[in-house]
Amino acid sequence: MFNKKSVRDIDVKGKKVLVRVDFNVPIKEGVVQDDTRVRAALPTIQYLLDQGASVILFSHLGRPKGGPDPKYSMKPVADYLGKLMGKPVKFAEDCVGEAAETVAAGLQPGDVLVLENTRFHPEEEKNDLDLAKKMAALADVFVNDAFGSAHRAHSSTEGVARFLPAVAGFLMEKEIQYLSQAIEDPKRPFVAILGGAKVSDKIGVIKNLLTKADAILIGGGMANTFFKAQGYPMGKSLVESEVLDLAKELLALGGTKLRLPVDVVVASAMEEGAETKVMPVGPIPDDMMILDVGPDTVAAYGKVIHSAATVVWNGPMGVFEVSTCAKGTFGVAEAMAASQAVTIVGGGDSASAIQKSGLADKITHISTGGGASLEMLEGLVLPGVAALQDK
Ligand code: AMP
Repeated sequence: MFNKKSVRDIDVKGKKVLVRVDFNVPIKEGVVQDDTRVRAALPTIQYLLDQGASVILFSHLGRPKGGPDPKYSMKPVADYLGKLMGKPVKFAEDCVGEAAETVAAGLQPGDVLVLENTRFHPEEEKNDLDLAKKMAALADVFVNDAFGSAHRAHSSTEGVARFLPAVAGFLMEKEIQYLSQAIEDPKRPFVAILGGAKVSDKIGVIKNLLTKADAILIGGGMANTFFKAQGYPMGKSLVESEVLDLAKELLALGGTKLRLPVDVVVASAMEEGAETKVMPVGPIPDDMMILDVGPDTVAAYGKVIHSAATVVWNGPMGVFEVSTCAKGTFGVAEAMAASQAVTIVGGGDSASAIQKSGLADKITHISTGGGASLEMLEGLVLPGVAALQDK
């Protein structure tokens, strides 16, 4: 359960509130390509403004190497936010130091300021406390609404919370409530669907979910490693040979709870236009690779999803970027959308597949954080959350 203080629990009237948001959005030639995360931060921003605070927003964006890089500037996001809110949004060309301090000092209640990318300081990812202290010096209160970054202990997520009263925003609260409810006290049957490229990324998640879920449906490249562990030649398919023993162990541990695809889509290459073929699970020809789950698997998984009361999904069922290998992923998306269950999509590729399929409004909760939601499914404590004040 969520036992941290939120913006509702503090008085922010006349205060400067530093809000860590997740504005790590795709930008192309200065234009925001997907504004989901910006919109998701609006309820917290608007609430703080309504309460008479001024709001200072900051976030990382992309992976700049070692210093400022205009390609990763937060300025386009600040401009976009201004348009979205229909009001001027100030911008400071650094997240600390004189540039930030001058603008922050002049803020009046109702003002919004966006700071430059936190990762323009390489110390950020080291959770450097000097940097965190400088961030904290800009404001009276810290709010963490960046669920997508909560699994990282960085200066702007964990460090800064040591120097200011620190509480959660509405998005953070909502994300954790949905995910922790699903894991700790799910309506049953509780079904987890796991896909994506590698099993090695999800070993901890599978182990934890085997103790919590009633069924785990496996898809994506990670299924190949299980098939290989069962002794099938996998042709040119993506297989992680170094974790075959672990895969065997998980199969034994999972028993009938851990379900694998029954048929697959194969092709000779992972590219648009390559001819695809459906075949039952078994030996894969030397010149072929598995790129998606097959129709019988989609139907079988669909039945399980239909009869579930809680479904959590993380990771695509195939190489959904290639149009002929996207049916498995979109089939699961459709089954989730049609289900009466509490349906939760855990960020990343599965979230973008749901958005692409136009079914987003039929899902109970789509997480804004891929890595963070995976760590929650693994049962880990997120450092960005642990640092907030208890209720
Ligand atoms: P992840 O980042 O682990 O969630 O993996 C997502 C990626 O897995 C996507 O880019 C998919 O194209 C890829 N993927 C899914 N299924 C397969 C597969 N059968 N073979 C290779 N890659 C896959």
